[in-house]
Amino acid sequence: MSETKKTQGGISVETEHIFPIIKKWLYSEKEIFLREIVSNASDAVTKLRRLMSLGVVKEIEDEFKIVVKLNKDEKTLTVSDNGIGMSLEEVNKYICQIALSGALDFIKEYENEESAQNGIIGHFGLGFYSAFMVSDTVDVITKSYTDAPAVKWVCNEAGEYEIFEDVEKEGRGTDVVMHISEGEQEFLSEAKIREILNKYCSFMPVEIYFDDGKVCEHEGECDCEKTVPINDVEPLWKKLPSECTDEEYKEFYKKAFFDFKEPLFHIHINADYPLNFKGILYFPKLNHEYDSLEGQVKLYYNQVFVADNIKEVIPEFMLMLKGVLDCPELPLNVSRSYLQNSAYVAKMSAHIVKKVADKLNEMFNTDREKYASLWDDIKLFVEYGCMRDRKFYDRVKGSLMLALTDGRHVTVNEYLEKAKETNENTVYYATDKTVQAQYISLFAARGVEVALLDKIIDTSFMGVLEQDRGIKFVRVDADIEALKGDGESFESESLAKVFKEVSKNEKLTVKFETLADSTTPALLNISEEARRMDDMMKFYAANGAMEYQKIPVESTLILNSQSPLIKKLSEDAESEKSKIIAHQVYMLALLTQRQLDAEELKEFLNDSFKLLEDNI
Ligand code: ADP
Repeated sequence: MSETKKTQGGISVETEHIFPIIKKWLYSEKEIFLREIVSNASDAVTKLRRLMSLGVVKEIEDEFKIVVKLNKDEKTLTVSDNGIGMSLEEVNKYICQIALSGALDFIKEYENEESAQNGIIGHFGLGFYSAFMVSDTVDVITKSYTDAPAVKWVCNEAGEYEIFEDVEKEGRGTDVVMHISEGEQEFLSEAKIREILNKYCSFMPVEIYFDDGKVCEHEGECDCEKTVPINDVEPLWKKLPSECTDEEYKEFYKKAFFDFKEPLFHIHINADYPLNFKGILYFPKLNHEYDSLEGQVKLYYNQVFVADNIKEVIPEFMLMLKGVLDCPELPLNVSRSYLQNSAYVAKMSAHIVKKVADKLNEMFNTDREKYASLWDDIKLFVEYGCMRDRKFYDRVKGSLMLALTDGRHVTVNEYLEKAKETNENTVYYATDKTVQAQYISLFAARGVEVALLDKIIDTSFMGVLEQDRGIKFVRVDADIEALKGDGESFESESLAKVFKEVSKNEKLTVKFETLADSTTPALLNISEEARRMDDMMKFYAANGAMEYQKIPVESTLILNSQSPLIKKLSEDAESEKSKIIAHQVYMLALLTQRQLDAEELKEFLNDSFKLLEDNI
């Protein structure tokens, strides 16, 4: 370098504040510097490739690549590319002069807005300068693809730089050498660098190799990342759906999300002009209701990772999906407020909703069996979507299914069609197959289907269908219309009174009905509306939103006129024995409807033992 011409300079007065600002504003996500530097390297290769394809540059022999090299001894992290490179003029133009006035205005305006914090650097084309978040000094050694000699630019964290002309550099391209500052030593850890590269650079379009600086003493001992790129330059989302196999989709899912449970199915989106974005969304398999409802939809900008789960881009109810979206129309660094107000983002989001709905309908129409088998896994998502987004509901409403207590699945329409005779416009449902088993079997005996709606969300979802379709959802213990039979009816006022008395329940109504099944002497019915209200209060209380106050829910004890036991009791209703038995029948009806509390259970067991003793 002895013969080289040397220039000195300082980044202009107005811009000398840039370094403290960079450090301050990107503090929370310092690791982004590596994404910026590697994506500049990738851009440099892409530009050269383009010149080649335009015929401006003749075919280049060597393979394009980026090498990220860690040198712990020298405390440097270097990103090298063999892309387009820069001449002296270009270094002066692109690296020394920064269009800062706009950035400074922006910073002043949004200084207190937290959401703008991640948005500044790339927004103003300052990505390169993010290297100073972690470095004292940054060297750029670069040689243009033209005949121009190589140049070295060295800049300290105060923005003072030196340029050395005519330096030696092997081959075309750029090395950015970051001298990591004392306080940022974590960026000299190979694990950390590997983690950042995996996060941001896994799908960049130029092969990236990571040289962790370890020297290999024996052959075969070397880190294979030195010879195998860390990234996949042709991620699956770029291919046409017709060119991808099921296996490839599954492989991609594993690789991108480290989830070894197979996804349920996927949706490959390939939106053309004017939306122009691509992506693959997967329905992950959830283990149970609350299992990782948080999915992971990764947003990319031309294969460069931008962020996870951007609520502004993915409708909230789809955040439980896993997938990738590549949107070159969105800037690499965007603020939340930009996304919130972007008409493009709104259209993109609507397009995603449509694609997901189309996929559900397609599966329903072409492979009903598979769709039904997936229903229990996807219903949470679909129901939530229906509640959140009216358009989504409208699109999928023909494909909504009801899981029945016997394990079959039918659509809402099919259910209603079958119910015409016995329970027109009413869907009977159970919330607990075990507790409500007795009711379920009574309905089954009458040939009435019972839906299983046992998730918390189901109650709200029923509300959507009730409103839209004018149908009624009635829990099996709320109504016996479908259980009534034609036999002879009788009533006994004195027996009704006895039941009321032994129940010790002020709010209890006792009624005689003729049920088709004669083996059940009594059944409890509780009002659907009151119970839903009570469920809701329990739910809020469980979430700490309010204290739960138990209000006795109005209930009706149905005495079955067809039951020999009830007939017998009515013959001598007032006797002591009748009262004991009436009490026991009431407790059994209660037990059929819900779990007994501790006091009730104790009393019930004692009475039962006593009854057995008396009858031996
Ligand atoms: P942006 O990439 O958004 O334009 P940067 O501050 O990251 O802004 O980079 C400024 C300019 O410096 C780039 O536009 C490019 O012309 C040049 N540059 C940066 N890194 C490289 C590189 N590795 N090879 C060639 N040119 C580069």
